[in-house]
Amino acid sequence: MQRDADRLTAAAVRVEADLRRTTGRPWTCSVEDFALTVTDGVLTRRVELEHEVEEAFVAPPVEPRDLEADLDADADEVVAYEVSEALTDLGLHWPVCPEHRQVMGSCTGWWYCSGETYHDVAEIGSLQAG
Ligand SMILES: [Zn+2]
Repeated sequence: MQRDADRLTAAAVRVEADLRRTTGRPWTCSVEDFALTVTDGVLTRRVELEHEVEEAFVAPPVEPRDLEADLDADADEVVAYEVSEALTDLGLHWPVCPEHRQVMGSCTGWWYCSGETYHDVAEIGSLQAG
């Protein structure tokens, strides 16, 4: 199943909000034609996103009523992952768990930390400035 452009853009808006809130800098994250651009106006990174939805999110049996949420989760996960990778390439570590000071991962719409014990930190789009 092909990823939906509107869903990827909505995910980019959520990740951008987290990025701005936690860094206090005017970063933008945008997706156009499966190309994700992360920039603060000075540093810019552009990466190509996979066109296909992650199999695990759409593997049967998926109830039609769950599919929407699964596709949102897929979009959040790929955009969050790629933004974090893009920032790493730019020499920045983001996002960092406020408690354990280590870079968080993203899974099904949540930022998680695998510090001393695995814990979910915040929903993507709701990360608080630490
Ligand atoms: Zn942590």
